[in-house]
Amino acid sequence: MFNKWDYRFTNLAKEVSSWSKEGKQVGCIIVDSNTNKVLSTGYNGLPKSLKDTCLPVLSKDDKSVLVLHAEHNALEHLSKEDYNKDLALYVTKTPCKLCAIKIFNSYANIKRVYYIPSNNASFNERYNSQESLDYLESNGIQTIPINTTIDYTTQIVIINYLSHALPEENDEITVNYISNYIYMCSTLINNLDNYLKKNTSQIDAINEILDEYNYKIILKFVQEKESSSAIAFLEWYDRYYRVPF
Ligand SMILES: [Zn+2]
Repeated sequence: MFNKWDYRFTNLAKEVSSWSKEGKQVGCIIVDSNTNKVLSTGYNGLPKSLKDTCLPVLSKDDKSVLVLHAEHNALEHLSKEDYNKDLALYVTKTPCKLCAIKIFNSYANIKRVYYIPSNNASFNERYNSQESLDYLESNGIQTIPINTTIDYTTQIVIINYLSHALPEENDEITVNYISNYIYMCSTLINNLDNYLKKNTSQIDAINEILDEYNYKIILKFVQEKESSSAIAFLEWYDRYYRVPF
């Protein structure tokens, strides 16, 4: 299950990727999961002993030897005193095999790797994406795909579906749930618009509205109605947004 910090850190890794002077930018951060402190950052580029301004004059062969991947640089920048903390690594691409090996064999206690999966088959083939993930998992490092592209349309469609679901006759409990749910959905949509106008992120806005009470209403709805859309909604919400109560 993701929480808002996972999204914040993934977005931060994206920001770090923008510092790279390479054509394909990759960013990585290492955090202490217990304190949510960022301990190290890295992007694909030259090692710290060399200046990035050399990059344009380097040949392709030189680059392939000299340029370090984002994960590698983040590990290099991590202080020794942080090695034994409960570490999570966030990276904007699936780690390649060499980085996977580096992550496992480093002294740093990295327990989880969050990455943004690529849909590009040739990228995945070139960097042995699946093999890298299998390698990390088989060595006890959890790999977690995280997708920051929010499909807001799906949410609206599902909410509309649920709000139009008719309660069964003479079923007071269902009527009660549905009406509560419809009320919650309308609040959700209206408030979302207001929150978004104030530049609050969708994640924060949704989490603010879907408090424990409203969440339980949906959960009960899912359990009693066995609606596939409701189940899909809840899975989607649990996976991307829910902050533990
Ligand atoms: Zn790599």
